[in-house]
Amino acid sequence: MKNRGIKVLPLNGRGLLVVLSGPSGVGKGTVCSFLRSEFPKLNYSISATTRKCRPGEIDGVNYYFLSREEFLARREIGEFLEWAEVYGNFYGTPRSAVEKSLSEGKDVILEIDIQGALKVKEIFPEGVFIFLLPPSKEELERRIKGRAADSAETIRRRLACVDEELASIASYQYVVVNSRIEEAAAQIMAIITAEKCRVSRNITCLNHKGGNIFD
Ligand code: 5GP
Repeated sequence: MKNRGIKVLPLNGRGLLVVLSGPSGVGKGTVCSFLRSEFPKLNYSISATTRKCRPGEIDGVNYYFLSREEFLARREIGEFLEWAEVYGNFYGTPRSAVEKSLSEGKDVILEIDIQGALKVKEIFPEGVFIFLLPPSKEELERRIKGRAADSAETIRRRLACVDEELASIASYQYVVVNSRIEEAAAQIMAIITAEKCRVSRNITCLNHKGGNIFD
């Protein structure tokens, strides 16, 4: 008897778009760097920014560091999937790299602020939206204040936004508490695995009555 295979085309051959967001200072960047080194198959979207390069950061690896003029010119021609002004600097997700990854069937993760995540949700409602929470509000404040690279004014602005940022959690599908980086990263990978196993993302031949999923 012929061995009949299952008609499964995961995600219709497209990659999964994952958005990791959350309040400023929660550690999105650190968790993403960890994911990037531990799970190289997960493509990481490199944002463009007008903020100054911090010590240890590399242009084209952490961000594409652009002048304000260059950023605005690229924004004008629609190069960004989304963009936002965060504490006086512009940040944007280059559209072409994300679309290329998805069309090649590669999963891609965006580490962006809450305004940006909400814009991406409008464009890619099928994406997976994960909110990173601190273990406590006190811990978040401690992390924000502890960032040596930030000016007193930036710290003040970040602290002032915390409550509003935390309230936007309702727009997300998943929440991960960032107490330990390894644990947060493991939970994010578990979410990605579960999402990729969703029936709705896999079985393309079922109609409302069911149907034959074998050849
Ligand atoms: P930082 O300057 O500390 O690297 O990032 C500041 C904030 O900008 C963080 O909340 C980070 O997630 C966010 N961010 C980084 N890249 C992007 C982007 O491409 N778009 C948006 N909307 N936010 C971004």
